[in-house]
Amino acid sequence: MELRVSTAVPVPGTTRYLCPLECGWHHDVPPPTLTRIAELGATADPAARDIHEAISSVATRATFAEVERTETALREHLDTHTTAQFARVIHDLRVEIAHLKSSGEADQ
Ligand SMILES: [Zn+2]
Repeated sequence: MELRVSTAVPVPGTTRYLCPLECGWHHDVPPPTLTRIAELGATADPAARDIHEAISSVATRATFAEVERTETALREHLDTHTTAQFARVIHDLRVEIAHLKSSGEADQ
């Protein structure tokens, strides 16, 4: 399993998606700047009736492109984990929840 772990601090406004199995992997989504919109290849809807609709359509298309990239990255990463790894994390969470519940009851 290839593990890409970066300790570099992302640019402000970055949304970081962490692996739910806490393996250290993450996917960074940079803030929606004009540069990022260009990178995503978002273009205006040719059916836009005016400049405002055109700008709005570019923003909408860029958002969808970013979401699609994020989902693909997450799916591809989760595919690198085994069923046993998911089962262990679920088990550990259940133990942790049970511990928290019992310590909460002890406080009352
Ligand atoms: Zn992971």
